[in-house]
Amino acid sequence: MRALQLTDPGVLEVREVPVPEIGPSDLLIRVGAAGICHSDLHLLHFPYKMREEPLTLGHEIAGTVEAMGSEVDGRVVGERGIVYLCWSCGVCRECIAGNENVCLAAGRTAMPPCPGLGPDGGMAEYVRVPARSFVPIGDLDFLQAAPMADAALTSYHAIRGAREHLHPGSTAVVIGVGGLGHVAVQILGALSATRIVAVDVGETQLDLAKRCGAEITIESGSDTAKQILDLTDGRGADAVFDFVGIDATAQMSVASVAPNGAYRMIGLGGGVPGVTAEPAGGPGWPWGASVRKSYGGTRSDLVDSIALANSGRLTVEVERFDLADARTALDRLESGQIRGRAVLVP
Ligand code: NAD
Ligand code: ZN
Ligand code: ZN
Repeated sequence: MRALQLTDPGVLEVREVPVPEIGPSDLLIRVGAAGICHSDLHLLHFPYKMREEPLTLGHEIAGTVEAMGSEVDGRVVGERGIVYLCWSCGVCRECIAGNENVCLAAGRTAMPPCPGLGPDGGMAEYVRVPARSFVPIGDLDFLQAAPMADAALTSYHAIRGAREHLHPGSTAVVIGVGGLGHVAVQILGALSATRIVAVDVGETQLDLAKRCGAEITIESGSDTAKQILDLTDGRGADAVFDFVGIDATAQMSVASVAPNGAYRMIGLGGGVPGVTAEPAGGPGWPWGASVRKSYGGTRSDLVDSIALANSGRLTVEVERFDLADARTALDRLESGQIRGRAVLVP
């Protein structure tokens, strides 16, 4: 089969490799579509090898069950679905409580094994997955379904966790209207009556935000926080979702969140927010505000995301690419030329 592999730091190749063998509790999935996440770019720029042998990328996977291990129950060949990306232990205290994204087996700061970031991923004709990770999608189109596995899951999780802040009359800010952000704007609209403010550097991204339901759009810059304060009588936004996570947006988040508000870090740009324990009247962090670094989501967040898509309340803006054109798609993502999500078809 053909697979898109990271063979050395920064080096991607479409290679002919054997179809993966499956164990007793695995499924072999024939891939229908695989989304490209900005995290794939972070991975591509990693300065050292993730593992000795080439790694097949792809953690947003949709496809069809092609074969099943001998111990798999409850699945059928030909079933359509997506792959839950937290390959967690399933039996620890956190997993049992439903928090599989923070599985104890992952340790304190790592994440559970994720296809395409350790085990081989789905930018290939076939992928081996644990049967537990398969989630049915009904009739949802593969190109729409693949981004549910991360763009929707991760956005939904961050928003659900901040729901108490999203009362009618509140203001929510989405920074970075890319693959995740444009989905987040729609999820905010579907789950709440909050006023949505979208921030991005690109005009096409801001246009997309409007179409997704943002009431106000702001071109990202040094006075963005001030503009958000002006929109909220100097108080700040009740929730700020940062899908970029660089210094500029982290500091923008701190400077624009309201007292008792929620600042959620989703983007992984390594930014330093500069939250300080200063007394009243300081320039930055208001009383009562909370910060949370949000990883992926729970299995039920994924099921909810699929339901939103199946109900027509969430539509991903997709740019389709053939697997062979993955490098072009990644380069375009890097230079801000993808609108919505780029999705590969093997
Ligand atoms: P993307 O490239 O599709 O979107 C990023 C958007 O941010 C683009 O629209 C870009 O124009 C915009 N942007 C860039 N600089 C900006 C700035 N200074 N101000 C405002 N907007 C700016 O990326 P994506 O796939 O949506 O991923 C977003 C981030 O989330 C990445 O860092 C990715 O690694 C991370 N991520 C985190 C998780 C998690 O679990 N925490 C999951 C998936 C992705
Ligand atoms: Zn991702
Ligand atoms: Zn666990």
